[in-house]
Amino acid sequence: MHGFEDILGQEAIIRHFEDALVTGKLSHAYILAGEEGFGKHLLADRIAAALLCTGEENIHPCGMCVSCIQAEAGTNPDIIYVTHEKQLITVGDVRSQVVDDVQVKPYVGKYKIYIIDEAERMNEQAQNALLKTLEEPPSYVVILLLAANTGSFLPTILSRCITLALKPVRPEAIAELLITRYNLPDYMARTCASFSGGSIGKAIRYATDAEFVSTRDEVIRLMSNIDHMSHADLMGSLSFFGDEKSRGNDSHKVDDFLDMLSLWMRDMLMFKATQDPNRLVFRDSIIDIKRQAALRSFENINDAIDAIEKARKRLRAFVYFDIAMEMLLMALRAL
Ligand SMILES: [Zn+2]
Repeated sequence: MHGFEDILGQEAIIRHFEDALVTGKLSHAYILAGEEGFGKHLLADRIAAALLCTGEENIHPCGMCVSCIQAEAGTNPDIIYVTHEKQLITVGDVRSQVVDDVQVKPYVGKYKIYIIDEAERMNEQAQNALLKTLEEPPSYVVILLLAANTGSFLPTILSRCITLALKPVRPEAIAELLITRYNLPDYMARTCASFSGGSIGKAIRYATDAEFVSTRDEVIRLMSNIDHMSHADLMGSLSFFGDEKSRGNDSHKVDDFLDMLSLWMRDMLMFKATQDPNRLVFRDSIIDIKRQAALRSFENINDAIDAIEKARKRLRAFVYFDIAMEMLLMALRAL
């Protein structure tokens, strides 16, 4: 597959580039914003291929020309993937791979496309270096910044880029994909899709990860019993994470666990507001959700959701796993 037809849910962004190509009003810089797993990379790859395609149809990549074949193989010399070795993207990375490189004309294509992944990791100096290029870009340059969020960009960067936000994909479309492409049984595809929060990447990971079911079961076990568990039992439940503890926020198991706790709380808000069990992600646990929803106020549930995000931040800041999780579990109790 080479065109845009296998990209789910991002029709508005694709239409934007189709229009830009037809009218010739392409901007020099775009921010593709969307959470991990929303499909930023695939989308950026296809946009780059479409811009450079030499086939007859000039809107969608044809998949047949040399440029498309090279793009598909990741070897198109006019598509530059900006890499970084450290946690942050430094001014050195931006200078050597973008600022100093843009003056060199494209090898073959009409455009030279720079794809900067995790662009939110550019520190201020790196962004200021990039700004020079954004202020006076050579006519053939197109820069695609891929970012989970736009909060860390300088206003001057934002004002020179067109920001396009990726949309979460409908769970039905994700389930369909898991059934047809990954041969998942129907009920499992629906479960993974509803837990994915609209992220195809997450859904695929759940579908192919044996731990998904055990993490889900652990969240159900914990949240169904949390109000009666002793402090020792609560701390004992952390043994579920085994060696993953030391990896903190880098662990998918920990990350998924926190995501699912959030979904549990969201289910409770949903049930309190609608009384409709069909809208719940944890549909199987309706009895516990109902019981807890009756015990908790909206405020209490919101506080619990805040506590989950706080735990995420603490783990990211390298607070000890057991301490961050103890604070979280205590905050999740209803009373
Ligand atoms: Zn082509």
